[in-house]
Amino acid sequence: MRLRVLASGSSGNAALITLHQADRRHDLLIDLGLSPRRLRGLLSAEGVDLEGLAAVLLTHGDVDHLHPGWARGWPSLLAPPIVLRPDHGALPARAGLSQATTRWIADELSLGPFRIRSLALPHDSEGSTAFRIDAGEASVGWATDLGRVPDPLHEFMRGVQVLGLESNYDPDMQRASARPEHLKRRIMDGRGHLSNEQAIDFVRSLHQADATPELVMLLHLSEQCNHPDVVRETWLRQAPDLAPRLRIADRRTPSEAVIAGPAALA
Ligand SMILES: [Zn+2]
Repeated sequence: MRLRVLASGSSGNAALITLHQADRRHDLLIDLGLSPRRLRGLLSAEGVDLEGLAAVLLTHGDVDHLHPGWARGWPSLLAPPIVLRPDHGALPARAGLSQATTRWIADELSLGPFRIRSLALPHDSEGSTAFRIDAGEASVGWATDLGRVPDPLHEFMRGVQVLGLESNYDPDMQRASARPEHLKRRIMDGRGHLSNEQAIDFVRSLHQADATPELVMLLHLSEQCNHPDVVRETWLRQAPDLAPRLRIADRRTPSEAVIAGPAALA
């Protein structure tokens, strides 16, 4: 199973998961945070079109995860199903996706060769969704836009080989930024975003529970309050043993593809 993050951050999020199995390719997209034109271009460079996706997994409805352009850009024919938790049931219509074919995911859903699981995450008033995608022996976990790590996330991510995890801000840069105090509070109060340290703590706790992911793809770095160099330095200082597993998704350009599971499934 192959993961390529197409873009990651407050200016837009989308990631593609691809599985080749028995001469067929199966693609899942996570989030629709790029404009229809841009996303279609990026998908076409990956050899798939929107109509060919097995499904779109929607983490939540913020505009950087569900771009307003989809109100008009969503295909009326052959649209892939949008997978979301029932709590988020109003999102497609609110975003203007009246033709959207929604598939509810309470805990678990089988979709072609994929087994998809979901978990609610604390984020603003409506929350976000963590996903775990398994196919054969390959497993990818995804958790972004979470104010803190809820306890069940540890068990949920046990055994994933590739973990996509938010690492939004450096606390010192956040506090020193020119942002208004209420915004800083909203981000750091446990219902906003995950800091670099919180991301490290979570990976460390998986490691201590003998469930270390082979690769950690850090997501959603703040442009104002974080920097890839700061993230790398923090990991080298606080978790040097885990730092070689680290990858950082780029804000605007597709990141290197990473493989989860046996190469035969890639
Ligand atoms: Zn976001």
